[in-house]
Amino acid sequence: MRKQLLFIPGPVTCAPAILEAMATPMIDHRGPEFARLIARIETGMKPIFGTQGDVVVLGSSGTGGLEAAVSSAFSPGQKVLACPVGVFGKRLAKIASTFGLDVEVLETPFGSAVDPRALATRLRADTSHEIAGILLTHNETSTGVQNDMAALAAAIGTHPATTIVDSVSGLGASAFEMDAWKFDIVVTASQKALAVPPGAAMVAIGTRGWKRIEKATCPSFYLDLRRAREFAVLGQTPWTPPVSIAYALDVAIDRYHTDGASNVYARHDRYARAMRAFAEAAGIELFSQPGAHSVTVVAMKVPAGIDVSAIRGALRDRYGVILGGGQAELKGKIVRMGTMGDLGADDVGFGIDSFASVLREHGHAAANAAAVDAARAILDTTLVAAG
Ligand SMILES: *Cc1c(COP(=O)(O)O)cnc(C)c1O
Repeated sequence: MRKQLLFIPGPVTCAPAILEAMATPMIDHRGPEFARLIARIETGMKPIFGTQGDVVVLGSSGTGGLEAAVSSAFSPGQKVLACPVGVFGKRLAKIASTFGLDVEVLETPFGSAVDPRALATRLRADTSHEIAGILLTHNETSTGVQNDMAALAAAIGTHPATTIVDSVSGLGASAFEMDAWKFDIVVTASQKALAVPPGAAMVAIGTRGWKRIEKATCPSFYLDLRRAREFAVLGQTPWTPPVSIAYALDVAIDRYHTDGASNVYARHDRYARAMRAFAEAAGIELFSQPGAHSVTVVAMKVPAGIDVSAIRGALRDRYGVILGGGQAELKGKIVRMGTMGDLGADDVGFGIDSFASVLREHGHAAANAAAVDAARAILDTTLVAAG
């Protein structure tokens, strides 16, 4: 297969060193080497989550981490306030209703972030503290929207609900302060900003989170966080872990800290700004509202008369450039271009240039050289450093 550049928001292009780590021979997952490996992952993830709490590694995709959080933290019949801003937020609400929780939805139009005032108002009205849980999405991959988590944390204030945050496509790409923001359980996965193949979810749990988990009675077995904690103490996981993914995560976390979080944030931000600059110059409307833009995925409205699947197919077949389409109700309406993964500024430039060529061929003349240059002007500031 020819080389492809993945611009989908997970799985992402992995660096050769990550893929090579996956070829490391197997070890005993109940032995001392694995205990050291998992300890390095847990320790290395803590500053990325912004927590001094625990981090447990689960053999699952991101959804498994979310299911682990919800099923371990709540009891059937408890009320939770879900705050979806897109398809993944709705999925989190669906997990909660699947486990018998009473789900109330704080509605936000797709393309916008949660309004912190709306959340504060709803919680202020909950004087008897009926709301036992709050479900938030840090970065909504389906709409290219990022919530202002500091503002949402402030809106929650001293309300005692257990807060669960889906940061599957956010964590690592921009600052996250789980402890300072007083979030109880935060979930991420290997295949997004950490740029490792899919297979592991990581769940961070604070002291109060564990207290809530101890009292919860929703059924759970494979993804039970209590069991995960019992084994984490021994340097193990309850079930056979994805050992190869653990090797890759170990290398990825080490590289992350070597690069420096602020440089990683700056890279995602720069790529996202370049993609948005291209869209703006090419007369392509962004799906996300100003002030709500994600740094890991840029969602663009498809210009009228253009067939998304034809564009994506041409990009894939002729350039090896893979863009995401819209999910669920957004199918056919948007294209999504992710910034995560082992992408240099030249790769992003190539992706945008290819996208522009295909758009022009499909009749969108405004995707011209000037529009590509608008993106390159932002990317060029790092070409030397990335080279
Ligand atoms: C990718 C993603 C998930 C998890 O999806 P999986 O396919 O289960 O890994 C959850 N939430 C968000 C916001 C995501 O981007």
